[in-house]
Amino acid sequence: MSIALAIILSASAMTLIVGVRYLITSGAFAVATRVRHPGLYTGLDPQIRREIWWSLASAAIYGVPAGVVAWGWQNRGWTQVYTDVSAFPLWYLPVSVLLFLFVHDTWFYWTHRWMHRPKPFRVAHAVHHASRPPTAWAAMAFHPIEALTGAVVIPLLVFVIPIHVGALGLVLTIMTVMGVTNHMGWEIFPRFMWQGPMGTWLITASHHQRHHERYGCNYGLYFRFWDRLCRTDEGLGDFARDRARAAARRERRDADRRHSGGAA
Ligand SMILES: [Zn+2]
Ligand SMILES: [Zn+2]
Repeated sequence: MSIALAIILSASAMTLIVGVRYLITSGAFAVATRVRHPGLYTGLDPQIRREIWWSLASAAIYGVPAGVVAWGWQNRGWTQVYTDVSAFPLWYLPVSVLLFLFVHDTWFYWTHRWMHRPKPFRVAHAVHHASRPPTAWAAMAFHPIEALTGAVVIPLLVFVIPIHVGALGLVLTIMTVMGVTNHMGWEIFPRFMWQGPMGTWLITASHHQRHHERYGCNYGLYFRFWDRLCRTDEGLGDFARDRARAAARRERRDADRRHSGGAA
């Protein structure tokens, strides 16, 4: 098989993996939402369809660089990804995960802040904020320009920071789960993770909720470090307004049904 074909196959396979991973993860958390907060997404079907289409387009943009680098790792010894767990001391495993998360968070914070400037917002980031309120399906609902800024981070980092393949899997899992749960419209994590000493540093749905309410604050991804340092942290949002709006949408829907039922 020619090298070009092998690279195209690897990129396509990775696109498929990212797309299916998105559908399974967002789907599972959307089901959890139905169980815990029935009716929270009532009336949002057209928005959810848009979120899914943008997310699947993003899956291709994430899949291609990841697929090319995965091919190079397997066939050309590219990257610093290692499989022998004794290649580095054991303490380095959690350190490498934290390093990846911190660098990703730093990149996200600054590119996200830049995307809130008027022009980049209009051209690219408005797509993500068109979800009002976001749902579990909005995790990858990005304009291609924004998707590209997110897609290059991990494929570049694996060339710079050594990481065990299992630790890399953990980083990708955290990335996926936080992307979905931060947009879900309710808090799935135990209170100690988002309130109290730990909550002052970690980002979960309550923190990102406020970003979607107020726009000009809470830009971070995993940690509140940059928001707090740069005074863009405006604390935690609550979900009362979105719940009240969902209840109003349900009432409208029920009234419409009664109305059309009565007219029939
Ligand atoms: Zn968001
Ligand atoms: Zn934003």
